[in-house]
Amino acid sequence: MESDRRDKSTRRLVLCAHIGASSRHVGILDEGGDVVLTAEKLEPPSVRRNLHYKDLLSDAVGALTSLVGQARREGIDPRCIIGGGAIVPGSVNPETGYVGLLPALPGLRNTYLARDLAAEMANVLGRQIAFWVENDANGRGLWEHRFGDGKDIKNFFVLVLCTGLGGSLFLNGALFHGHTWRAGEIGHTTVLPDGPLCPCGGRGCLETMASGKAILKSIQYSNSPLRLRDDLTYQRVIEAAKAGDEEVKESFHRMGHYLGIGLANVVNILNPSKLILCGQLNPASRFFLPGIEEEMNHRVFQGTDCNLVISENVADMEVRAALVTFLDHARQRH
Ligand SMILES: [Zn+2]
Repeated sequence: MESDRRDKSTRRLVLCAHIGASSRHVGILDEGGDVVLTAEKLEPPSVRRNLHYKDLLSDAVGALTSLVGQARREGIDPRCIIGGGAIVPGSVNPETGYVGLLPALPGLRNTYLARDLAAEMANVLGRQIAFWVENDANGRGLWEHRFGDGKDIKNFFVLVLCTGLGGSLFLNGALFHGHTWRAGEIGHTTVLPDGPLCPCGGRGCLETMASGKAILKSIQYSNSPLRLRDDLTYQRVIEAAKAGDEEVKESFHRMGHYLGIGLANVVNILNPSKLILCGQLNPASRFFLPGIEEEMNHRVFQGTDCNLVISENVADMEVRAALVTFLDHARQRH
């Protein structure tokens, strides 16, 4: 007991938040990556798309405040909290905490989220702490770099395969943001010039052909019995593929084909040593990997020597990505 109490009083803790298009997660994590407390709220994207900034901010702050209270009740001294990190599904300038382009969650667009989270949590804690905000795929990439499949790798690309597609690019050992903080947006590279219209305004973007929403759409237009369900989840779709639904399996294979085209372009331009695939659709990888490999085998330059890995899905990844967002930016400034 005594050592447990001492551990609690000396731990360095971080407030973590993920403000997403279909969910909000908050957590208190220690700097070693362990989750101390966490809370999650799921909400349909159709609802979250209409939320204003003050609603999204107060929801996240309220949930973090509850966790701080819970931590106190469990004997954790809030003075152990050294800062905060947050991730959002859009382009972020981490230097200023400014959130720019964000089609999936318009309420957060053109806001200084880091500044506002820091100010609100200063009121709760009675002192200032620094908050850092990142794009969600970049947060995932930072996690892979510190704890996952990107550890000790200098040049790698992380593809996050969820409802949309995200990408995170590490060059010469560091996260590459690009000129206006939008590097890695593989979802909006063209794979079919006259393909379907994308919310970004383009046509035939990879995300319209290969993503969670693309899979759901292709099932609606298939002969699969799943097309009649209005409560389709990725889990159901993956289970159907595993149970032998040929239409669903074909949809995943076609998704792999387009992903392979997109990833071959990444490899030919950047010559990374590793591609890391992660996200909610990874449990279906055996259905889309053959399509990826077929395309990459004949599109990638010989001798590029790039290793493709399917990353394991880890619980509470959203708040873990927020943790490393804080840790990475705090490290750079010391
Ligand atoms: Zn697009």
